[in-house]
Amino acid sequence: MFLPQEIIRHKRDGLELSADEIRSFIQGVTDESVSEGQIAALAMAVYFNDMTMNERIALTCAMRDSGSVLDWSGLSLGGPIVDKHSTGGVGDVTSLMLGPLVAACGGFVPMISGRGLGHTGGTLDKFDAIPGYQTAPSTELLRQVVKEVGVAIIGQTGDLAPADKRIYATRDVTATVEAIPLITASILSKKLAAGLQALVMDVKVGSGAFMPTAEKSAELARSIVAVANGAGCRTSALLTDMSQPLASCAGNALEVREAVRYLTGEYRHPRLHAVTMALCADMLVAAGLASDESQALSQLQGALESGAAADRFGRMVAGLGGPADFMSRYESYLPQAELVRPVLAERSGYVQQMDTRAIGMAVVALGGGRRRASDTIDYSVGFSDFCQLGQWVEAGQPLALVHARHESAYHEAAQALRQAIVLGDVAPAALPEVYRRIRISDIDTEGQSQEKQS
Ligand code: URA
Repeated sequence: MFLPQEIIRHKRDGLELSADEIRSFIQGVTDESVSEGQIAALAMAVYFNDMTMNERIALTCAMRDSGSVLDWSGLSLGGPIVDKHSTGGVGDVTSLMLGPLVAACGGFVPMISGRGLGHTGGTLDKFDAIPGYQTAPSTELLRQVVKEVGVAIIGQTGDLAPADKRIYATRDVTATVEAIPLITASILSKKLAAGLQALVMDVKVGSGAFMPTAEKSAELARSIVAVANGAGCRTSALLTDMSQPLASCAGNALEVREAVRYLTGEYRHPRLHAVTMALCADMLVAAGLASDESQALSQLQGALESGAAADRFGRMVAGLGGPADFMSRYESYLPQAELVRPVLAERSGYVQQMDTRAIGMAVVALGGGRRRASDTIDYSVGFSDFCQLGQWVEAGQPLALVHARHESAYHEAAQALRQAIVLGDVAPAALPEVYRRIRISDIDTEGQSQEKQS
């Protein structure tokens, strides 16, 4: 039996906590015998004194086990359970294509997704734009859709990693969100509670990323890869670009439309395609469904060209209560904004920079995200037809189209977009879609997740 204040004192004094101490503290978080003040004190001690890899693994496993852990073994699925997680971005609609693509290649993807947070869009909010789609199905329906279709994208159920809910709420109001060991355990406890065998992590870099610098993004990626593998889940990470919106649009119904058009082959945005393919390929390799990246890419291309991935998306939507003919009639089901009007460039120039965070906040201001948890969302609003970094734009040409509810919302969004996009006389250097991959073999886990020197 450990006293919470003794555990806090150990961490305050820079000692390594034992797995038993960590389990005991998390048990107390879950049964509420540990107070909010004690959670805050431990979080602050971790913020200043860090955690070793062993502590991070113990924390992740204790938080994962604080609620139910999904068990797929009784379903005889005949394929690996695999998923992706992203630190979030703007126009990041990859999950909607990636789940069906990996399912079409033999994986099973029970994707537990979240709602929009701050400037980032949420996968669940996108699915809520589809009439009838249940983001909170019963466990039986979830299991049935995963078994029959291979993919189900749904929301977090109440009893997955409940300790994270309490800890996150306390971190949010005590300036301790930024601690990498706590972010690692928070993300992974929820993902691993879905009973995964393999995971690919998409850590964003750039003006719309959750982490403030490229170095911090890489540090988080290394931490997640080391801890998830230490907890028994084969995991790799990709550092991908979020210096501009990933898709051609941002906004819930607009992004669903883009995903459907991608899957049916109507339109594939090159950057979105590159990131989706890279993540899917890593998932297939990590899950043992392909021996290497090139085999994975040819399987994925086959799933797109044959229509198998589009078919999985349509079956998932129907299986979770949406329209059976969604893929052919998506335009008539998705809500459309009253007012669609371009924002025109005030000068000519190359698109040099985009403040992606500000663009995400402009979508929220249009009504496409929440300012408070209780806010309702207008699924129809957002931006489409974004210009891209490096593109030459003439004065008077559109930077994007605004989809708004009314005139004043349009003007506010247009103003925000003009401020977020810097036009200049010099073309910026081209940025890659994927900066690099981080695999467990690249990491020196003894050295606190430093990358090995080659
Ligand atoms: N997302 C999470 O789920 N947890 C964190 O701590 C940060 C981002």
